[in-house]
Amino acid sequence: MGEQLIKKIGVLTSGGDSPGMNAAIRAVVRSANYYGLECVGIREGYNGLIEENFTKMGPRSVSNIINLGGTVLRSARSMEFKTKEGRQKAYNNCLKHNIEALVVIGGDGSFTGAKIFSEEFGIKVIGVPGTIDNDIFGTDNTIGYDTALNTAMEAIDKIRDTATSHNRVFFVEVMGRDAGFIALNSGIASGAVDILIPERKDSFEDLIISFEKAKKRGKNSSIVVVAEGDKLGNAYQLAERTKERFPDYDIRVSILGHIQRGGSPSCADRVLASRLGFGAVTGLLKGLTNVMAGIQSNQLVYTPIDDAIKKHNEINQDLLLISEVLAL
Ligand code: ADP
Repeated sequence: MGEQLIKKIGVLTSGGDSPGMNAAIRAVVRSANYYGLECVGIREGYNGLIEENFTKMGPRSVSNIINLGGTVLRSARSMEFKTKEGRQKAYNNCLKHNIEALVVIGGDGSFTGAKIFSEEFGIKVIGVPGTIDNDIFGTDNTIGYDTALNTAMEAIDKIRDTATSHNRVFFVEVMGRDAGFIALNSGIASGAVDILIPERKDSFEDLIISFEKAKKRGKNSSIVVVAEGDKLGNAYQLAERTKERFPDYDIRVSILGHIQRGGSPSCADRVLASRLGFGAVTGLLKGLTNVMAGIQSNQLVYTPIDDAIKKHNEINQDLLLISEVLAL
């Protein structure tokens, strides 16, 4: 692996959890062991770094977790890490334990913290994108996204069964405060008549047109998938406005919520997490820092963490068109 620059690393999960984080922890711990690095698990995100909530990890401490949702290291949102004093305490603990580098598994907030910490104190950091929203630049998919998509799709399939039995219109709200990836893909996969996402400026009239088209073509039930961050309004507000226009519609709302974050990770997420955990460790061994490991076009790539935070993956325009064409 070339010149070995570091001997001991820490790994933590931070911010919103996602299915596959455990597979990523396992990959980091085992890759570190394979390449002769010591590995410390840091519990509860940056809080654990500040409070010295550390646990030594070896290959056996990550047995039987590849299939588990959530994160065995637990996650947290740490207000203290946002302060210079908090980060100083965290750095002192790194010094005390000879931790020279950190693998941070999380979303853009966690990466922002990692970048600041690395710039302040010279600790090496590599990010591993773990979030269901898929809103991180520098990787085609984030860990947890595929599982969340499948959970949403299966839930919408079940809602469809009851929708068709009763001639109902369902507004199904899926996660995605700033990103419509889950909504767009689960909507296409479950045959929604319309999909509302924050990246696209839909008007309420466009939605009404979708309903009118569906009615004209003889559809007697409809599902609209709404990303929680959609600008037109949340699912309840949209349902209310639709009821005003179509008083005869039997309209229901279903908010999928946190079920989308849980569950056993899909095969794709386990493989992705394994590749990225391995990529984070080998990246550190190559002397990389302040980058995020990602997979683009099936290749392991490293993106400056700054770009991962600031740039955005674009919604695929073909998918938008396809969602409209197939909703006929
Ligand atoms: P996510 O990583 O899922 O986007 P958050 O935005 O909640 O989740 O960020 C997770 C944690 O990262 C925060 O609780 C905080 O400890 C740390 N963090 C976020 N932004 C900053 C910042 N500007 N400075 C230092 N730490 C930060």
